[in-house]
Amino acid sequence: MDMTDLASRLASGDRRALARAITLVESRRADHREAALALLADLARSGREALRIGLSGTPGVGKSTFIESFGLRLTGQGLKVAVLAVDPSSARSGGSILGDKTRMERLSRDPQAFIRPSPSQTHLGGVARRTREAVALCEAAGFDVILIETVGVGQSETVVAQLCDLFLLLLAPAGGDELQGVKRGIMEMADLILVNKADGDLKPAALRTVADYAGALRLLRRRPQDPEGFPKAMPVSALEEQGLADAWAEMQALVAWRRETGHFDRRRAEQARHWFEEEVREGLLAVLSRPGPARDRMARLGAAVTRGEITPEAAAAELLTTL
Ligand code: GDP
Repeated sequence: MDMTDLASRLASGDRRALARAITLVESRRADHREAALALLADLARSGREALRIGLSGTPGVGKSTFIESFGLRLTGQGLKVAVLAVDPSSARSGGSILGDKTRMERLSRDPQAFIRPSPSQTHLGGVARRTREAVALCEAAGFDVILIETVGVGQSETVVAQLCDLFLLLLAPAGGDELQGVKRGIMEMADLILVNKADGDLKPAALRTVADYAGALRLLRRRPQDPEGFPKAMPVSALEEQGLADAWAEMQALVAWRRETGHFDRRRAEQARHWFEEEVREGLLAVLSRPGPARDRMARLGAAVTRGEITPEAAAAELLTTL
């Protein structure tokens, strides 16, 4: 593979080159990894920056419908939109595959859009790194907005929140007057709570749900990265394309405020640091699990611990100093 050619085609916005580059960063082959790192380092110099928007919601809430109508609205304004997914589930028997193009047919045919399904990787750390690198590739390819989709399962929201500038939580109208068991931690990550399906018979329930969440959000501690009034809850209908312009206006207002106050860049800098530390942690684990002197030393010390010749703590300390 000619890397210089790939890099220049990608930088000119060629979607096939982008798809190939993402395949490269997903590969586990050592030579591919080396090429991927060189490509990423090369492209990092482009200085291009997209708005990264995370989107979370349980299956059936309307994520793909929302991404399609919202995405088409943005491409209609001349923006280039990429859609990536963080999918922690390995077994794909049940719910729909995130980022599947058949779920967003019109958007996938739009020449201004790029949709990439989630890779079939089980390990969340691996998915996180791959998504981070895919984000960088989409930025270098000149995309303006990157939507990163995830389901409300396990730690995937935390991963997405560490990858995006804005985090949207999509909810369905609640039946009763109870909040939908949305964990406090997830609510605290949201910048906008969008209550979808605010149309037809569901509209009154949706508006009630918006009011409930607006109340709940007011009880949260004010975050330094928020202007007055944020985080916010709003009704939308992805199906009838209602409320999308308002939601976009709120996102832009929030981003403008964060840029002005320095919170936008600070968040990115903190995220970069977080991912550096994650990479180190993952790298250390990899060193200990692959065949080599570190693993041998760990086995020897483990045997000594079993024989009672050394305490577990002393053995661990000894191993760590040699790493
Ligand atoms: P996902 O699993 O979160 O991606 O949800 P989908 O986008 O596949 O939507 C699940 C179902 O909800 C589909 O039958 C959609 O047609 C429906 N749906 C999505 N958005 C809306 C909406 O705004 N209003 C109504 N009434 N139905 C919607």
